[in-house]
Amino acid sequence: MRIALFGGTFDPPHLGHLAIARAAAEAFQLDTVLFAPAGRQPLKLDGSPSSFTDRLAMTTLACKQDKRFRASAIDAPRSDGLPNYTADTLASLRRALPEDTLFNLVGADSFLDLPRWHEPNRLLELAEWIVVSRPGFSLADFSREDLSSLHLTPHQQSRVHLLTTVHEDISATVLRQRLQAGESCTDALPSAVSTYIHTHHLYH
Ligand code: ATP
Repeated sequence: MRIALFGGTFDPPHLGHLAIARAAAEAFQLDTVLFAPAGRQPLKLDGSPSSFTDRLAMTTLACKQDKRFRASAIDAPRSDGLPNYTADTLASLRRALPEDTLFNLVGADSFLDLPRWHEPNRLLELAEWIVVSRPGFSLADFSREDLSSLHLTPHQQSRVHLLTTVHEDISATVLRQRLQAGESCTDALPSAVSTYIHTHHLYH
């Protein structure tokens, strides 16, 4: 099986996330995309506005749109209070699924942050990477100095696959601002997620 981990804050999960996962599933013949909301995202330690429970519930609703998509609690908040590191998540998936081909799915903005991730070189050993284009973030910057400072081996570099055909101009930050201003954002949210937000009075 070909399985992609798709980590994020998913606060809220939006149509951009679904479009990215669908494009990656088509281009890389993925059987499963595991949407994994992070209990504590290491690079966003000031916290998410919504609880992990709400983010997982919304992600579960969003994943009903495609039978290849599954919401996963693999990155639930840790009992020791530490952030959820993707390297640890991929390592535990690798142990649980020794025969499967593992991918780590990220948007261009996350990938350009790779030097700030925990154990970047190990991350590229643990999985193939699918990096999806995002408006406002140039993947040409892949060769910029701070990435080359990682001294990736040719093998690690060969595990990075770029998917440059996606142009989804949606961000959760902008959606939270619009929701707070009273907009419904049905243009950018799966309808079940809109309903959940409304019912649970999120982002007010
Ligand atoms: P925020 O605005 O709060 O930072 P976000 O919209 O970037 O949120 P996340 O949950 O942080 O959403 O993103 C999860 C993953 O999805 C990350 O790898 C991110 O790069 C990617 N992603 C999110 N939105 C897009 C988009 N519009 N195009 C490409 N990648 C995206």
